[in-house]
Amino acid sequence: MIRIDIIKDKLKDIPILKVADELGITHKGKSAWCFMHDDKNPSLGFNTSKNTWKCYVCDKGGDQVTLVMEKLALSYIDACKWLADRFNIIIPEDDGYRRRVIVKKSVVQAKPKTKYTNSPVDVEMISWIVSHAQLSDIAVDFLYKQRKYKPMVVENLRIGSISDSTKLINALVKTFGIERTIKSGIVRQNMRGLYLFFCTPCLIFPYSDISGNIVNMQTRYLGTDKNVPRFQFLPNSSTGLFNMAIVNSISVDEKLFVSEGITDCIALLSSGRNAVAIPSATLLNDADIKTLAPKNLFMYPDKDEAGERLYKNLSEKLNVYGSMIMRLQLPEGCKDFSDYYLRQISENG
Ligand SMILES: [Zn+2]
Repeated sequence: MIRIDIIKDKLKDIPILKVADELGITHKGKSAWCFMHDDKNPSLGFNTSKNTWKCYVCDKGGDQVTLVMEKLALSYIDACKWLADRFNIIIPEDDGYRRRVIVKKSVVQAKPKTKYTNSPVDVEMISWIVSHAQLSDIAVDFLYKQRKYKPMVVENLRIGSISDSTKLINALVKTFGIERTIKSGIVRQNMRGLYLFFCTPCLIFPYSDISGNIVNMQTRYLGTDKNVPRFQFLPNSSTGLFNMAIVNSISVDEKLFVSEGITDCIALLSSGRNAVAIPSATLLNDADIKTLAPKNLFMYPDKDEAGERLYKNLSEKLNVYGSMIMRLQLPEGCKDFSDYYLRQISENG
């Protein structure tokens, strides 16, 4: 048993934004895109002096523990344990006689470890991971059997996977040294040793700029644990559109589709279309809009409110540059392009 009243007292000092970072919640300053509803404008606010959060749309909020509970669907106690683990707060097992909670004060009160979250993305390390991340059996199963993506598309996008996190950590430490590996934010350290920021097993989606240089990566969890986030970016890494390299390789007359999320983008590419993706919960930045504006743009908005909003938002932003995006309608019964793609494949054998 753990004396939650005592541990909670210590957890309340953890800066709420650091908790958000640990949870992989993308935020801009004190606001974030709510992870509980389809949020296209940041409606989740953080109060950094009280260490609280609140979504004004969902009307939900609370402290660090409730943020973890909501995000990871954990019980109160498990959320406390998760926080203690991530912020190096030691909770000894019950000694059967007297419960004690020892907290490494220096860790909590000493400035939050900005080295994890504010360092620029280590592009070289990400490129190394991408070039060494062979597709595992479950990745192959997901990409080709379940999603029916075309192997050439997967290869061109340099999609990889991580299945053995220990092996990867060891390889990174060997190649880049421990200090740089930890500084990258990809590998983290707690009482028990080193662990990977990304939940594994997972796919790796490299993000490139229009010249094809890798600038970031996103993972998609492939395991069965319902308590871990499905898609993850490194905390505080700024993210543009996915597959931007395609922009330079097509003429202005060719159609370019813009999708909501990576998986629809890969389905679009597999169907023979050109596509870029707006990763979920990401603000459309002006540089990307400007790059897209001269293109012959198309979109199949998802058949939900969020899809409509994204289309509208994108249209408005393109309008500023005198550009537009053509809206296409998904057939009845298809909620997004991935649905439509799979249906077409099954119909055509
Ligand atoms: Zn909300």
